[in-house]
Amino acid sequence: MNRVGHLINGSMIKDGDRTQDVFNPSTGAVEKQVVMASKSTVEHAIAAASEAFPAWRNTPAIKRARVMFKFKDLLEQNAEKICQLIGEEHGKIAHDAAGELQRGIENVEYACCAPELLKGEHSKNVAPDIDSWSEFQPLGVVAGITPFNFPAMVPLWMYPMAIVCGNCFILKPSERDPSSTLYIASLLKQAGLPDGVMNVVNGDKEAVDTLLNDSRVQAISFVGSTPIAEYIYTTANANGKRCQALGGAKNHAIVMPDADMDNAVNQLLGAAFGSSGERCMALSVAVAVGDAAGDALISKMRVAMQGLKVGPYSDRDNDFGPVITQQHQQRIISHIDSAEQQGAEIVVDGRNPYVVGYEQGFYIGGTLIDRVTAEMDSYNAEIFGPVLQVMRVDSMQAAMELIDAHEYGNGTCIFTRDGEAARYFSDHIQVGMVGINIPLPVPVAYHSFGGWKRSLFGDLHAYGPDAVRFYTKRKTITQRWPSAGVREGALFSMPS
Ligand code: NAD
Repeated sequence: MNRVGHLINGSMIKDGDRTQDVFNPSTGAVEKQVVMASKSTVEHAIAAASEAFPAWRNTPAIKRARVMFKFKDLLEQNAEKICQLIGEEHGKIAHDAAGELQRGIENVEYACCAPELLKGEHSKNVAPDIDSWSEFQPLGVVAGITPFNFPAMVPLWMYPMAIVCGNCFILKPSERDPSSTLYIASLLKQAGLPDGVMNVVNGDKEAVDTLLNDSRVQAISFVGSTPIAEYIYTTANANGKRCQALGGAKNHAIVMPDADMDNAVNQLLGAAFGSSGERCMALSVAVAVGDAAGDALISKMRVAMQGLKVGPYSDRDNDFGPVITQQHQQRIISHIDSAEQQGAEIVVDGRNPYVVGYEQGFYIGGTLIDRVTAEMDSYNAEIFGPVLQVMRVDSMQAAMELIDAHEYGNGTCIFTRDGEAARYFSDHIQVGMVGINIPLPVPVAYHSFGGWKRSLFGDLHAYGPDAVRFYTKRKTITQRWPSAGVREGALFSMPS
């Protein structure tokens, strides 16, 4: 069987005693095994990165950026292969995988601006003959730990920026769909990146804990579920490391009575069911303001969902594919069961989809649940499946209170024609990324991405301008070159 290994110091390494099955979720078959890195394998990667750091740190920013220009070309040239690998192991259909890759490539494009982003700040003559400037120096060896749901895009949020800032990187991707991530990283060598600057170790907690506890690792970027994000953040902090840990989500859309309902339904369809709802920015709750809006939403949604197509990633006509594992499929079903038991109304039931010829695949059909309340377990949990829950409230204020009371604060959206209401909403809502008639307000690569509350632990958001801050430390230098003959005596007061 095919083994997926590690990329360390420019070489692919497939040795290792411990492996885990990698499924094709579309068929349910095991097609590969991923080698789980031991502590010593991860230490080997850390040593390679540490060794590569002094030369890479001193490489001019423009030369580091040139690697990213070539890397972008290689990503585009190999897009079909990358999307195929994503489809095989994640299950997302080709046009969704292509969209993910494109958003990843945009982060590489931003990283191409390194010389501009790293210019620093300069002040001449802060006092007679004295100049002062701040520069951004790399941290050293930094690591990233990433989730299954965006095997191309989320790693690309991290390492292009870390690398152009002069750091060396170790990536620990999800063990559930590792191949596209590993393949993409391998293209960096062709792009001219020196060995050791970028390393990939596959594995689980053993690999992650080694990264968290090794004093040579200066910073950790994490994206995944909230319990693990919190563990990563507290452990990294206790070990004196810089850390940003992005967690889970429950994203609400407010549907106002004045909304263009047909448009809202179309937007909700894509944002709730696209990628089988396995997106941290998926809209999983629609909050209808007023019963008339609730009734219109449900009746239009019920009709629109009749056209939804779930099936294997390889069929481009499908709207979305399977979920990642059989356990996850069962977990989603149990959330739908619990909503039903706790009094919600299952309007469209996707618990038993029949996908002809793919009976062993991990499918869930689009599911619509009405009359969900804040007390229900299915509301409080992140379901991470193709399930849209509808709640009904009397006012926009009540909808906002609901959103603010939820533990997560990743993304949200309002559908309305009222500019004043939209402006009030975006100004006051306790959520990090807000859409106004935009269902998935994922910031473009030159803004930063991050949620509030328990959707992000740390101060700086992912990618964009925050990434320059996260992957560098600031040094401020103050220098005096006295004019000829000018000498100052000892000064005992604070210089001013
Ligand atoms: P996960 O938390 O299970 O895994 C994420 C990473 O952590 C993986 O690399 C995994 O190997 C590692 N990991 C898992 N358990 C660990 C443990 N006990 N100790 C150390 N490391 C461990 O997440 P997932 O299921 O792969 O991804 C889905 C989750 O990611 C969802 O909650 C989703 O909302 C979240 N997510 C968030 C964002 C965001 O930007 N906020 C983006 C994408 C996904």
